[in-house]
Amino acid sequence: MSETMKMVNLREIWGMVRKTDTYRTEKKKGAADMAEEAKAQGAVDTAEEAKAAEAVNTACEANAAETEATAEAGKLVNEMRLCFLSRGENESLARIAVAGFIACLDPAMDVLDDIRTAVSEAVTNAIIHGYQGRKDGIVYLSAFLYEWGEHGRLLRVDVEDTGIGIENIEKAMEPLYSTSPDGERAGMGFTFMKAFTDRLEVESKPRLGTCVSMWKEVAVPEAFYEEE
Ligand code: ATP
Ligand code: MG
Repeated sequence: MSETMKMVNLREIWGMVRKTDTYRTEKKKGAADMAEEAKAQGAVDTAEEAKAAEAVNTACEANAAETEATAEAGKLVNEMRLCFLSRGENESLARIAVAGFIACLDPAMDVLDDIRTAVSEAVTNAIIHGYQGRKDGIVYLSAFLYEWGEHGRLLRVDVEDTGIGIENIEKAMEPLYSTSPDGERAGMGFTFMKAFTDRLEVESKPRLGTCVSMWKEVAVPEAFYEEE
């Protein structure tokens, strides 16, 4: 496959993934708003009860739509979700979990190393910066495998926290920038994540948390083609 074709495919998939995510978020937000509104009004009379029931229905629909939208993308072949406490030892758990998730593809060692490093940096950031060393925060790790090209796979890993969030994402992503108070950190985590993946996206809101999404192309060995 030519480089241009690869780029087009990759762009298409990224577009699809983002579209699906926006759709999910909007649907969920709509349902949550309706439910909130109904709750605020106490759902005292039947009209209000009906409204509350409708909100619940909408929430259920949103969940169904989420599954459908993912399926609609048609290219999702596998998915994993894991949440764990913001304890240092869970950084290796995250690395191993993602490596295990793609083990069936028998990835090249350098690809595996890149992914492990990127995941490790993102999870460490969630623990150290997001939760500021608190051990009772929850880190959400998700991994998705999409079909890519003729026989390839596109891995997406999301690392999410509900910690302090980032005030200025652009600044935070600059090489050597760090807010580490003890000066022990090099400020290179985001730079590594960017260098070791094909795409990096960071969404963050102060006081709400941070979500780091990373994409990486993983080739499927020829011997696996027939099993696909
Ligand atoms: P290093 O990763 O080299 O040990 P670092 O963690 O400071 O140092 P980066 O990983 O590049 O460097 O992150 C840069 C800065 O972005 C951090 O110092 C921190 O201010 C902010 N940051 C990164 N991730 C998060 C997060 N999940 N929540 C809040 N702030 C974050
Ligand atoms: Mg870091």
